[in-house]
Amino acid sequence: VTGLVAGLDVGGTKTSGVAVDGSGAVVAEVHLPTATGSGTRLVASTADALRRLADRAGGRFTRVGVGVPGVVDREAGTVRHAVNLGLDGRAVDLAGALAGVAGAPVVVENDVNAAALGASILGLGDDLAYLSVGTGVAAGFVLGGRLRRGFAGVAGEIGHLVVDPAGPPCSCGQRGCLEAFASGSAVARRWPSTNGSPAVAALVAAAAGGDPAGVAALDGLAWHLAAAVTLVCLTVDPAVAVLGGGVAEAGPSLAAAVGAALRRRATGSPLLTELDLAARVTVLGPERAAGAVGAARLAAGTVVA
Ligand SMILES: [Zn+2]
Repeated sequence: VTGLVAGLDVGGTKTSGVAVDGSGAVVAEVHLPTATGSGTRLVASTADALRRLADRAGGRFTRVGVGVPGVVDREAGTVRHAVNLGLDGRAVDLAGALAGVAGAPVVVENDVNAAALGASILGLGDDLAYLSVGTGVAAGFVLGGRLRRGFAGVAGEIGHLVVDPAGPPCSCGQRGCLEAFASGSAVARRWPSTNGSPAVAALVAAAAGGDPAGVAALDGLAWHLAAAVTLVCLTVDPAVAVLGGGVAEAGPSLAAAVGAALRRRATGSPLLTELDLAARVTVLGPERAAGAVGAARLAAGTVVA
């Protein structure tokens, strides 16, 4: 496909978009708040992002890709059951609505899958697990250069693995799910933001400043993120484990904390010590717009995925 391709990444709070030219270079970007609460609001907000992106890029798009949380039907171009967007079980025809705006074909993909592919394109290699740690936690996999969606499309839905049967109840109906401990929501509960900046950034700053409660909360987060990294590494053994999503705003200090937790967890295990999973962990900040970049690539159809 030649010409301009748009990639959008619709998050629970923010929508990011990139315009990519025929050489794969990003030529324009937008970052806007996401309007949530209904399919109508979501469609309007996403269409607005697409129009602004076209204005900035100064041209029409030949293809559009959208990464969105929830249950995505790629054939139908619909999304449903996206709790963070306020969508229930009714299908929202995102592809149909955006195709009308862009006058071009639209592909819709799960946001974590799009971000995993984007991380690969952004230089993290063709064999990786991408851990999206935001409101919830989920993994996407690019293995041997191919996106691995799974038989039923739920590969990497690790947020609802039970890690503590005595833990807090989860909206999914179980108790003690991983995402109750290793997610942006878990951080926000333990360390509420007071100034509007992401809770995890405030937490990292407090821990760096020596606040004992901050140190303990960061240790807890890192310990459970290390469990998630161990889980995906022992399952698919990727070359790289990428931490992305909202908590990635904490930057390299988060990777350091997770690396330290991985080394602590490996103590006493010759196998884990030899694997040295800490060396595989990297953080990809939201400014890289991995989800939007991946969505654009899927739309361009230049990968077998
Ligand atoms: Zn759950």
